[in-house]
This record gives sequence, structure tokens and C-alpha cells, in this order.
Amino acid sequence: AKVFIYEKPFDGFPKEDDLKLVEEDLKPLKNGEFLTEAVFLSVDPYMRGYAPFLKTGTVFLGGQIALIVESKNPNFPAGKYCFGQYGWRSHTISNGIPDPNNILHEYVLPDFKGLSPSLGLGILGMPGNTAYFGLLEICHPKPGETVVISGAGGAVGNHVGQIAKLKGCKVIGIAGSDEKGSWLTNEMNFDHFINYKTQNVRKTLKEIAPKGVDCYFDNVGGEISSTIVNQMSLFGRISVCGAISAYNDKHPKASALQAAMAIKQLKMEGFIVTRWADKWFEGIDQNLQWIQEGKIKYRETVTEGFENMFRAFTDMLKGVNYGKAIVRAKSI
Ligand code: NDP
Repeated sequence: AKVFIYEKPFDGFPKEDDLKLVEEDLKPLKNGEFLTEAVFLSVDPYMRGYAPFLKTGTVFLGGQIALIVESKNPNFPAGKYCFGQYGWRSHTISNGIPDPNNILHEYVLPDFKGLSPSLGLGILGMPGNTAYFGLLEICHPKPGETVVISGAGGAVGNHVGQIAKLKGCKVIGIAGSDEKGSWLTNEMNFDHFINYKTQNVRKTLKEIAPKGVDCYFDNVGGEISSTIVNQMSLFGRISVCGAISAYNDKHPKASALQAAMAIKQLKMEGFIVTRWADKWFEGIDQNLQWIQEGKIKYRETVTEGFENMFRAFTDMLKGVNYGKAIVRAKSI
């Protein structure tokens, strides 16, 4: 097996030699075990956010869609695809014993009705459920309301915007390039787009949403979020999903949210998507149904080759991806 080891703690933006690619021998399978081969691997912002808690010398963390190539476990039969939080490794031996503290650690993929198993890392997996539950269960968007999404061009963000449109809302996306903006407004049904790198977010938002923002789905934190929260309408709802603008900061900056929160009587709630672990497959079913009905679209940005995991990861942090960033380790 090829395995990426977390060699040196990230100091600011990750550097290539912070990880080390090593070879590991695979032992013969014991009863109850099965061997998987990674087919698609995920690169996600949480890998950067969580890194300070990860021990050096251990395999770098992450989820993957793997093919079960050999099995002595009837629950994980050879030939099936599974999702596994196995980390950045090409081959894995697992005993398939459920982890009571993390029931989403591994599972055989449900039937995706002919769609690519790679979607189990995106719209039909963790980011898809983050968009679905994080928007609907925390913001409760109503028809006619204005919904703003930061990090709108990414895996979670573009999906949140499309769901908000299905709920009859006016949808404004914020992301880092005009090309992403054209894609969001032309293809993904967004009403408006703001480029946070070239436009004045405060001024542009005032023009597009003069009555204020009812729901804010926050993927980035920092200055962008302070600006938006200060333009919320009375009793607005904020779903705090992530803070990618701060993940590479050595010293997180203070933000200015409290005055707006109090004066406008806002509700702000953070979440980790595994909160809805017991409804996980309901979320996947709903997203799959929307895809089949042509109501929701998706896009993947694919990097070829397991050895290019690090580049895929840092490209995602730099904003190269449209929709979900993944790596293809094996052709199927
Ligand atoms: P994305 O696919 O959105 O990829 C990350 C994107 O972030 C990049 O493409 C880039 O796009 C943008 N970005 C990078 N740096 C900055 C910056 N300094 N300021 C603003 N935008 C930046 O990732 P995901 O959709 O997977 O995740 C989005 C957010 O959701 C993250 O914060 C993540 O941690 C969080 N998350 C939280 C979960 C939870 O359970 N709470 C679960 C899953 C994700 P651009 O071109 O616009 O700069």
C-alpha cells in the first residue's frame, strides 16, 4: 500500500514535505477482514482545519471510495464499493467492526442508480448532507427570502444555493473568481454573484439585497462574514458551516459580529454534519432524487493519480476547484 504520513505539523499554508509518501506491506486477511483499493479520494477543507489535532507520524486523514477487492467479511463483499475514513492510503485492510463513536466511519455505498460512485464523496456524501441539513435544519429558508452563501463555488456552497432556489429564495453567491460566478449564475441557477477578491462585498450586497439578508450560510468566516452579518434583516438566521478563510492563519483575527447579532436579534448556530448521522441515508436519498429529477446539478474537479493528493489538496485550498475536489486513484 502507498500511504501519506503526516510528517511535520502544518505551519501556515501546507508544504509538500509536511507529508511523506511511504510503502507499507499488506498482511494476509484474517477472518472478518476485507481488503480495499482506493478508487476516489476526497480532499476537504476540514483536513487543514483538523490538522493541529492530528499526531505526526500517523496516516493523513480523509475519506475515500474504495473497491472491496478481497473479503472474509459477508457485510463487505468483494466487488462492492464502500466509503471509508481510511486516510490517504491506496489499500486498506479493515475488520468492518462498527465504531460506536463514529457510525459513518465506513459503509457499503447505497445504490446510486448508475451514477458515479465518486459522488459518495460529494453530493451523495458528506458535503451533500452538509448542504442539505445545514441549510434546511438551521436556516429554515422561506419562499421569497434572500439567502447568501459564502464559499459558493465549492462542494457545499453550490449545492446550498441550488436547494435554496428549490425553496423559492433569492440566492446570492460569493466566491473568488468571475468564472465561478458565471458558472453559478448561468448553470447552477443562482440569482447573483459577488467576487470577494475584486468587488466591494458590502456595497454590492447593499445594491443586490437592499432589504437585507434573511439567511446566511457561512463557509468562510472572517471579514466576508462580518460584512454579511452586519447586513442581515431582523430575525435572520446564520448557519455556521466553516471558516476556511482562517484555517491557514497562524493567529486567528477577531471578528465584529456581536453588535449586529444583538441589534437584529439574529440566530447563529454552528454544526458538524455528523449531528444528522441517524438521517444520513435520508439526505443521500433526497439529493439523489433531486439529481434524477433534474432539479439539482453537480460538478466535480478531478485530479488524476494517488501521488498527486497533495497538489489536489492545496489546489482546493487555493480555490482551483469548481464543486467537489476529488482524486482518481484508479480507473473504473
Ligand atoms: P470547497 O469545495 O468550498 O473548497 C474550498 C473553497 O474555499 C475554495 O475552492 C476557495 O474558493 C474557498 N476559499 C479558500 N480560501 C478562502 C478564503 N481565504 N476566503 C474565502 N474563500 C476561500 O470546500 P467544501 O465545500 O468542502 O467546504 C466548504 C466549507 O464548509 C469549509 O469551511 C469546510 O470546512 C466546511 N464544512 C463543514 C462541515 C461541517 O460539518 N460543519 C462539513 C463539510 C464542510 P474561492 O475561489 O471562492 O476562493
